[in-house]
Amino acid sequence: MSEQAVAAITGAASGIGRALAVYYAGRGIRSVIGTFSGDPHDPEETARLVREAGGTCVIQEVDVRQTASVEAFADRAVETFGRLDYVIANAGILRHAPIADLTDERWADIMEVDLVGVLRTLRAGAKRLGAGGAMVAISSIAGGVYGWEEHAHYATAKAGVLGLVRSLAVELGPREIRVNAIIPGLIETPQSLDPVNSLGPDGLIRAGKDIPWGRVGRPEEVASVIGFLTSRDANYVTGQAIVVDGGLTVKMRA
Ligand code: NAD
Repeated sequence: MSEQAVAAITGAASGIGRALAVYYAGRGIRSVIGTFSGDPHDPEETARLVREAGGTCVIQEVDVRQTASVEAFADRAVETFGRLDYVIANAGILRHAPIADLTDERWADIMEVDLVGVLRTLRAGAKRLGAGGAMVAISSIAGGVYGWEEHAHYATAKAGVLGLVRSLAVELGPREIRVNAIIPGLIETPQSLDPVNSLGPDGLIRAGKDIPWGRVGRPEEVASVIGFLTSRDANYVTGQAIVVDGGLTVKMRA
């Protein structure tokens, strides 16, 4: 794709999404920064970092639980920049819930964001992208590789993302639109720094010691792989899931 390409990234006011907007900015790729007002993250900080990297972006509120909101988000790219080339289904939530407490409502809350939200985002992209377009959805080692106790809803949604990505890769291949997934390991972001629903700061330091790379990952280290997958360097790669985990999942444990 040319350097004039445009990417729409959900959940780009923080973490991996923010790092991706900055990565794209450094390569002349313009972004629609998806921001969700239900969270305290500051999209202006993403926009500032994008400008600092010499890039261009526009901020758009998007709630992936609402089809109309996701459609408006994708439209914003076309209205603002006249095109849409890459769509990144990055928005996600993580909640702790032992199985006895995993009510239908809690299950549905996760599915609406982490699985149906990804469907809504990729569907909006599929309706607008042309040949050479690419989409990436963010799965997780939880569900994508491992089970995770007391997070069955999250792991199920993240496993489902892989089936969705593979199926859309087959369906959209004839239109020369590629669809891939990223399976992040433990990455330091607001999500993993939450001690209630995830490992928290101390847990991440402890977990990092058991990772072959010796530490947890940085958002930038995931963003650059997403960037590779959307680039023409990955022109013949579709329907794949790339694990970005510092060797966490290939280490044998007794
Ligand atoms: P993060 O919490 O910084 O990013 C998630 C983003 O999603 C936030 O900006 C949040 O506002 C947004 N969001 C939440 N609900 C939304 C909604 N209804 N509509 C639109 N946006 C919404 O954490 P992150 O780690 O950067 O997460 C990015 C993706 O990576 C998520 O899908 C997450 O599940 C996945 N992931 C993260 C890790 C990790 O260790 N951090 C590991 C595996 C997978």
